[in-house]
Amino acid sequence: MNLSYSVSTPMSLLTQGIELVIQELQPLRRRTDLRFDRTILERIGQLRSLLAVESARTEEQAVVAESTSLVTRPARAVKSSHHEKLRQLEQTALACRKCPHLVAFRHQVVFGVGNPDAELMFVGEAPGADEDLRGEPFVGRAGELLTRIIQTMGFSRAEVYIANVLKCRPDVPPGKSGNRPPTAEEMATCLPYLREQIALIRPKLMVALGGVAMRGLFGVDQPMKSLRGRWHQFAGIPVMPTFHPSYLLRNQSLTEKRKVWEDMLLVLDRLERPITERQRNFFLAKG
Ligand code: URA
Repeated sequence: MNLSYSVSTPMSLLTQGIELVIQELQPLRRRTDLRFDRTILERIGQLRSLLAVESARTEEQAVVAESTSLVTRPARAVKSSHHEKLRQLEQTALACRKCPHLVAFRHQVVFGVGNPDAELMFVGEAPGADEDLRGEPFVGRAGELLTRIIQTMGFSRAEVYIANVLKCRPDVPPGKSGNRPPTAEEMATCLPYLREQIALIRPKLMVALGGVAMRGLFGVDQPMKSLRGRWHQFAGIPVMPTFHPSYLLRNQSLTEKRKVWEDMLLVLDRLERPITERQRNFFLAKG
């Protein structure tokens, strides 16, 4: 597939074409046998970036056309909905080049996924290698655990919204595998995107996953054990901090799982969601 295109191509047709190809490729990336097919994942990433750049250009052209028009036209149609604004914010983030070292390293910008009207939003620290390839937050091992937590709470992944403080995978030296935590500076640079996402989605509650996410949101540098289990406020929205799922993967003890689960029970309680007896008793040592 040739990804270059002529400047004379009608933009709306091009957009539609790229969107169609992305839609065609999306189901493939969910097939587990293709999960690590980097070519397909990278192709989706290239298409998403191309679409983002193209859509930013089209938007710019529309603004110029409007400002230079001699004909008086009614102001542009009533304000776009917050869904549309979220989509526009995503396009801006996908084309972001604020951190050159991350731009050079990333395969994809990982904006966030889920319900733009979610009452519950989960915020992690930054994409890892899996997320960078898939363009979606929390899809690796920690993500599978987060998905199980969300489902055990009685939600589907599509009902909530999931994002990170940093939208690009933190770079690691060539030849080195694994992930590194984002720096305070990287998180501060990227935070405006998350702020805007939160302002548009207006979830009732948020869950901050891990100490790094708390540092990114609040600038606090305290151990999770002193932060979790009580409510904090970010932009007027109550936030429950809890351990990051990767901490639970490293520390599989029942007591640590129970701590996270107790935090989730506080979330369900505050959302006034019904809690079954079975849910209340998860991860309690059998007496
Ligand atoms: N850890 C995070 O904090 N975010 C992800 O998206 C994946 C792992």
